Amino acid sequence: MDCIFCKIVNGDIPAYKIYEDDDVLAFLDITQATKGHTLIIPKKHVENIYALDDKTSQAVFSKIPTVANAIKESLNPIGLNLLQNNDQPLQSVFHFHVHLIPRYQEDETTIGWVNHQDSYQDADYKHVQTEIKKCIK
Ligand code: AMP
Ligand code: ZN
Repeated sequence: MDCIFCKIVNGDIPAYKIYEDDDVLAFLDITQATKGHTLIIPKKHVENIYALDDKTSQAVFSKIPTVANAIKESLNPIGLNLLQNNDQPLQSVFHFHVHLIPRYQEDETTIGWVNHQDSYQDADYKHVQTEIKKCIK
């Protein structure tokens, strides 16, 4: 399989590793959107959030606070965003990963959304709530 993150896990290509255990690896994102921008991944190849089993999910998500606290303590950001992309065109590497993006006063990163609250009535929220709830398995 031609997966760049599997190659990092297997040691076939280098990475700036931050944390590693039997199931999980965290390493610096090559783009460094901000100083300390880190990715945390399962060592097992899982394509995206939809394919993530409970055990792998638990392994990855349980280590996010460890890595986040290390970033906070070492680099002293004003805050930190978690970001996780699924499917094209959002996702560019198809091995599940969570971005940890420390934030600084003068950084050029923007992560935002538009507030559509004004165009949502109670019935609209209830419709969306019902649609999603009926697909919970
Ligand atoms: P996404 O758009 O969420 O799939 O992001 C994938 C991320 O992987 C991007 O931010 C890339 O900079 C990062 N990336 C790709 N290849 C490498 C690599 N060899 N080492 C570190 N980060 C990488
Ligand atoms: Zn992979």
